[in-house]
Amino acid sequence: MKSKTNAKTWPDAKGYFGDYGGRYVPDTLMAPLIELEKAFEELSGKEAFWEEFATVLKTFVGRETPLQYARRLSEHLKGAKIYLKREDLAHTGAHKINNAIGQILVAKHMGKTRIIAETGAGQHGVATATAAAQYGLKCVVYMGADDMARQEMNVFRMRLLGAEVVAVNSGSRTLKDAVSEAMRDWVANIADTHYLLGSALGPHPYPRMVRDFQSVIGIEAREQILAAEKRLPDSIIACVGGGSNAIGIFSAFVGDEKTVLIGVEAGGTAIKPGQHAARFSGGTPGIFQGMKTYFLQNADGQAENTHSISAGLDYTAVGPEHSLLHDIKRAKYMSVSDDEAAAAFHLLARTEGIIPALESSHAIAMACKIAPKAGSTHLMIINLSGRGDKDIGIIQKYDGGKK
Ligand SMILES: *Cc1c(COP(=O)(O)O)cnc(C)c1O
Repeated sequence: MKSKTNAKTWPDAKGYFGDYGGRYVPDTLMAPLIELEKAFEELSGKEAFWEEFATVLKTFVGRETPLQYARRLSEHLKGAKIYLKREDLAHTGAHKINNAIGQILVAKHMGKTRIIAETGAGQHGVATATAAAQYGLKCVVYMGADDMARQEMNVFRMRLLGAEVVAVNSGSRTLKDAVSEAMRDWVANIADTHYLLGSALGPHPYPRMVRDFQSVIGIEAREQILAAEKRLPDSIIACVGGGSNAIGIFSAFVGDEKTVLIGVEAGGTAIKPGQHAARFSGGTPGIFQGMKTYFLQNADGQAENTHSISAGLDYTAVGPEHSLLHDIKRAKYMSVSDDEAAAAFHLLARTEGIIPALESSHAIAMACKIAPKAGSTHLMIINLSGRGDKDIGIIQKYDGGKK
C-alpha cells in the first residue's frame, strides 16, 4: 500500500501548505525535526515500508475497517443515503492507532528505543502505549496533573500497557503544559527518543507524516464506496480536532472536485471566547506551537481558553492543511454545539446500535442538519472516528442518558 495522497501538491519542501505550516521552533528542536524529516522522507519512498505498515494495520489493528450503509439512520433522516466509515472498529477503538503504529515503525527504523508522547484526555497516550508495547519500546507519556485526575481510567490503561505516565504540575496542569514538558524531554534525549505527536499538526514534518499515515482511511473508503455504489460520494463529513481523522479521509478525495468535504468543529456552548473550539468561526491565523495556522487567540496573540463536551475536539489550534483547504474553499468548516453532539450520540446508538465517540458525534450531528435537505440521490460518508465507551460517564452526567 503506497500512500496515495496529495503529497505531491503540498506541503512544499519547507513544510508549507500554502501559507500555513512551516517549522516555528527554537534552535534546539531543529536538529531532531530535521533528522525525523529525513528519515520519513527516505522511508516513505520505499514500497517495503508501506507494505510493512499495511501488514501491521491488517494483523494488529484489524484493518480494513468496514464502510457500512447506515440504513436506519438514513431512513430516520429521510434524505441522503449515508455510509459510516467504521474507525471505531480499529484496535483501541479509534483512528489514532493508525498514526501511532506508523510513527513507531519510523522510530524503529531510526534505531530509537524510547517513545515519548503528550496526552490530554488520554486517548493518544493509550494509542501510543499500545503501539509501543507491541514493539517492546520504552514509553513515557506526559500528562497534565489535572487531566490525570479527570481521566483516571486512561492513566491506569496506559500503565497496564507498560507506559510510564508523568504528571506535569506546571502552568495550567493540562495539555499545553504536557506538550512543553515532552519537548524538553525530546531535546535532552534526542539520541534514543522519538516524540510521537498525536494529530496532523505541530512543526514540519508532523502534519504531513500524520496525514500520510491516516490517509489509509480515505484510500479504503474511496475503494469501498466505488465497490458499493459504483460512484464517488457527494459529501464527506468528519470531525476536526487537530484534524487527523478528517485529513485522513479527505486526502483521498481532495482531487474529486464534486465531492464536498465538510469538517465539523466543536461549537461548545456558544461561539464566544472560552466557550467553544471552532477555530474557523472564532480564530485567526498566527503562529502557535511550532506552526502557522488558524487558532483561537485574543487581540494580543495569546491563546484563548477552549471548551467542548468532547475532549478530542477541545484544542486551541487546527492542523495547517485544514487552514489551506479552508482558505482555498476546497473544504467547508462548520460547528455544532455540545447539545447537538449529545443528541446525535443518542440517535446513532438507537438507530444503528453503535455508541459513537463524542468527537464523532459532532460529524453525525452535522449530517443530521444536511442529510434531510440533500435529497435521496445524495451519497454521504460520515467518518466515525471512534467508539463512545470512553464517553458514557460524560453523557450520564450531561443528560442522564435521556435524549
Ligand atoms: C482524538 C480524537 C479525535 C480528534 O482528533 P483528530 O486529530 O482531529 O482526528 C476525533 N475522534 C476521536 C474518536 C478521537 O479520539
